[in-house]
Amino acid sequence: MKKTKIVCTVGPASGCKQVIEKMFHAGMNGVRINTAYGNIPQYEVTIRAVREVADIPVIIDIKGPEVRIKATQAKTLIKGDILEVGFNGEDICFNHDLYDEMAVNDLVLIDNGKIRTHVVEKANRKLYLKIHNSGTIEDGKGVNIPNKHLSLPTLSKRDLEIVRFAKKFDIEYVALSFARNAKDVENLSKEHRFEGGIIAKIENYEGVQNIEEITDAASGIMVARGDLGIEIEPEKVPLVQKSIIKLCNQKGKLVVTATEMLESMIHQPCPTRAEVSDVANAILDGSDAVMLSGETAIGEFPVEAVKMITKIANETEKAVKSNVEDTCFVNVSDTVSRAIQRICQSMPVDKVVTITRSGYTARMITRFKIAQPIIAVTPDLKVKKQLEIVFGVQPVAINYLVENDRIFKVAKQLCEMRLLGEKETVLFTAAVRTTMKHASNSIEIHKMGELEQFASG
Ligand code: PGA
Ligand code: MN
Repeated sequence: MKKTKIVCTVGPASGCKQVIEKMFHAGMNGVRINTAYGNIPQYEVTIRAVREVADIPVIIDIKGPEVRIKATQAKTLIKGDILEVGFNGEDICFNHDLYDEMAVNDLVLIDNGKIRTHVVEKANRKLYLKIHNSGTIEDGKGVNIPNKHLSLPTLSKRDLEIVRFAKKFDIEYVALSFARNAKDVENLSKEHRFEGGIIAKIENYEGVQNIEEITDAASGIMVARGDLGIEIEPEKVPLVQKSIIKLCNQKGKLVVTATEMLESMIHQPCPTRAEVSDVANAILDGSDAVMLSGETAIGEFPVEAVKMITKIANETEKAVKSNVEDTCFVNVSDTVSRAIQRICQSMPVDKVVTITRSGYTARMITRFKIAQPIIAVTPDLKVKKQLEIVFGVQPVAINYLVENDRIFKVAKQLCEMRLLGEKETVLFTAAVRTTMKHASNSIEIHKMGELEQFASG
């Protein structure tokens, strides 16, 4: 079974049930809805389609403090032109009011950095931008203002509307674009009471600076290399990617590597060798999941792109090694997961079963990249779906209400589901006789065929 998880952004090329189904069978484990495009009724159609196809998570990507350009019509510019941009519904304006915070000489990069400009004048609540290279300004294109702290609100009015929608549909994850600090994340979880997982997208300098507190506040991190490569310069991205992934592995947090992974497959059936290598390296770095963006949202070969990642994953993931370092005592689950790694290396264990309410212990075990498949059993369908995008974890929802003999009952059900076999040696871990969090405190190792005789009836 493939261990590396694949998140696909859906869009016009893939929003319908038929393509979602095909991508699922090709190896897709989660769906991202990018709310930079489309509208709520369309998102609803996608969510219903995903839920009909499989128990996999939907990630709703909200745009947060992302700056975009609004244009009533496209405008082509040439080098040396001066572009007038307002903040208040003019023909060409920004989506946020950042007038007071901008200064002459600030760089303003438009459309993924394709159009470079700088501020030459600031007057009457308008900025005048000198164009460095020719290009066309279109409505909705992203704007990057590198190395600048902008006091933009974490969530726009539209974001809040989408968060309400996400809550109503009990969505598994929200991805927060341009997360700058822990407060941005907490704003969503505490103030707006979003109870699903929050994936903080790291895509500017501030996010990189505050990565430690953001990782602690969020359920996971997305290395959002598209904007990151503009905000901090592309040559800095590879090492930042590695250090973010390592940090997330260390803390047992989800980490997704994203953007331009198989970019050329938007128009071609085969990727470049460099793209294949990039996907493989993201896996070797320790990513839980890799994400496709334009490849599946607007590309000509969405299903082929997923198949390609599956092939790269199958070939590469056997060589992934743990990058988790020794630490002082963290909590019981941390300690027990370290013991499980040792056991799995020193005796023949076929599978690991973790009985987990929140999914935490499953993530703590899988960060060691053990060879054995990890079956995560949880009573909560939402947690089950959330775990679908965690490396090496096969989640199963089983309602094990009983405290007594929980391991035995789960084992029996997994055998009936043919997820465990008679001849297999299985390591079980669970929190026994405790209701504390992060406290998987027991390890039992059983030969499945032998376990049957201990049925307590
Ligand atoms: P986006 O974020 O696709 O929403 O822009 C990802 C990135 O910037 O890499
Ligand atoms: Mn982005």
